[in-house]
Amino acid sequence: MMSLCLLPLMEMLTALWRNMTFLLQCMKMLPSWCWLEIFGKRKVSSLKIKAPQDAGRVKPISVNYHFTRQCNYKCGFCFHTAKTSFVLPIEEAKKGLAMLKDAGMEKINFSGGEPFLQDRGNFVGKLVEYCKTELKLPSVSIVSNGSLITEKWFKSYGEHLDILAVSCDSFNEDVNKLIGRGQGKKNHVEKLMKIRQWCCDYNVAFKINSVITSYNVDEDMRSEITMISPIRWKVFQCLIIAGENTGEEALRQAEKFVITNEEFKGFLDRHKDIKCLVPESNQQMRDSYLILDEYMRFLDCRNGRKDPSKSVLDVGVENAIKFSGFDEKMFFKRGGKYVWSKADLKLDW
Ligand code: SF4
Repeated sequence: MMSLCLLPLMEMLTALWRNMTFLLQCMKMLPSWCWLEIFGKRKVSSLKIKAPQDAGRVKPISVNYHFTRQCNYKCGFCFHTAKTSFVLPIEEAKKGLAMLKDAGMEKINFSGGEPFLQDRGNFVGKLVEYCKTELKLPSVSIVSNGSLITEKWFKSYGEHLDILAVSCDSFNEDVNKLIGRGQGKKNHVEKLMKIRQWCCDYNVAFKINSVITSYNVDEDMRSEITMISPIRWKVFQCLIIAGENTGEEALRQAEKFVITNEEFKGFLDRHKDIKCLVPESNQQMRDSYLILDEYMRFLDCRNGRKDPSKSVLDVGVENAIKFSGFDEKMFFKRGGKYVWSKADLKLDW
């Protein structure tokens, strides 16, 4: 009877003991919680501040400077047309190039229009010399239609040039004329062969660029390309850009030159055994180039037209590049970074 009366009291004492033990445990853990609360949070917030510092920084490793829009050819699909005749004074152009070098540029490619039109090739020659000797860029290259290049130019500037790319869309001269790649009686293919020889004589790597359109999509270029053996054969799918080669204000209407992705693939399949072939579809072309126009503005081609940034000379490289639309991942994916200095290329002709 007595034990029955004591039972509720025993239970009360046990419950009290359990709660006290729990309280003691909590008190032991209190310093660790405080530590976590104060320093843990501080640690997390410092990480949050640090992350954005590097985010979104694009290094202009490889830049294409279209310093002139003027050209002596009239290719029907041209997507960088003579909308202005402006060319920066050479000292301004050099200043912009030095700013790009400071921002991380390793490769410069001079393009147009036709780069050899300005001051009979001396303008581009002086820029090539400046980029190699003063800025010490690992790679300096030019893309040209080839028609105005002379051996005298190679004698004056050839030693400073790593790569010369000449555009050639067909080895059939009639097709070149139909496309508009030509001027008067000049034979484009004959000139291409001459330049190939000068590149060999003056130790400049030789490259060919071809644009595939409805005019040449069925051509078989295997034997000619194998015989010429360029270090790289860039094969582009004809690209439509509003305001350049389509639309009311454009200087060209290139719709009839356009080919489908399947047709482009057919051309690539036919030439798949050519080791130096580097294909570029429309998508790769739109996003993976850093293009500077004649005012040194980056051109964003993502929306099917060329939207310019402010000039590098006015706002600096870092500000201008934010509006370039450049896709760095696509640049590396398309093989944009390759052996591009002639010191590293084993030129063996
Ligand atoms: S050579 Fe080049 S810049 Fe000149 S018209 Fe043809 S595509 Fe345009």
